[in-house]
Amino acid sequence: MNEYGILTLCATPIGNLEDITYRAVRVMKEAHIIAAEDTRHTRKLLNHFDINTPLESYHEHNKVSKGPFLIEKLKSGKNIVLVTDAGTPGISDPGEDIVRLALEEGIRVTAVPGPVAGIIGLIISGQETSRFYFEGFLPLSKKECQIRIDELSNLTSSIIIYEAPHRIKKTINYLHKELGNRSITIARELTKKYEEVIKMTLEEALLYFEGKEARGEYVLIIEGTDQEILDKEARDEWQNISIEDHMKKYTDKGIKEKEAMRLVAKDRGVSRRDIYQHIKV
Ligand code: SAM
Repeated sequence: MNEYGILTLCATPIGNLEDITYRAVRVMKEAHIIAAEDTRHTRKLLNHFDINTPLESYHEHNKVSKGPFLIEKLKSGKNIVLVTDAGTPGISDPGEDIVRLALEEGIRVTAVPGPVAGIIGLIISGQETSRFYFEGFLPLSKKECQIRIDELSNLTSSIIIYEAPHRIKKTINYLHKELGNRSITIARELTKKYEEVIKMTLEEALLYFEGKEARGEYVLIIEGTDQEILDKEARDEWQNISIEDHMKKYTDKGIKEKEAMRLVAKDRGVSRRDIYQHIKV
């Protein structure tokens, strides 16, 4: 067995200090080092819980150089706790890379669970919770954002999006334009004094933000599309090609004629007999 230290990803509150766990406090107290996204921010948390463990910064802009430094510390037997500004490390914030590096080096990685803003927003959103897709922040580049929203538009599960206040209006406009008038839940300042959770349509969301200064942190939970709409769109698409060409798409792949007829009938929402009669005349 090696004498390496352990890397612990430790969740911290997303706005309400009472949401810290007993275990999080103990693990942070016992660690040799706490690696934090923003040391000034985390210092306030540590002061509140009387934790005196030394802090190191680890964030998006220094992770390439700081990652190997922390790995060396772990290999020399130091236990490191990784925290981010809020919630669970690795979810839309640094964490992923250092976990990969640690595992590659045979270092044990574990976690102290706690809040994830997206999950908290989802469970009180009134949207479907049995199936959901976590998107996090949409890409900043317009082109990439467009591609991503195109992909999202075909999902039938609820979609969780994170957004900063200065971009929220733009994002809502965009979502409305691309996804149509779906149901959305806007969850703001979760677990904080001014927590607000409002379920509305995307059209209503446009009005909601009109003339309003967006403040605080937002999670958006958007209704997935209806499977029937997807099926109809797919059927409409097939109507643009002839049944013969449609059959060829399958037979060219080596699929037998009988099976191809079944698939074509399914795609077009008709019976196999209809396809058979069309081909045999
Ligand atoms: N790791 C965090 C988690 O577990 O949820 C997310 C970190 S990400 C950098 C920050 C984003 O999370 C914010 O821009 C916002 O979209 C969301 N968020 C964090 N705290 C929130 C809160 N109290 N209420 C609503 N959204 C929050």
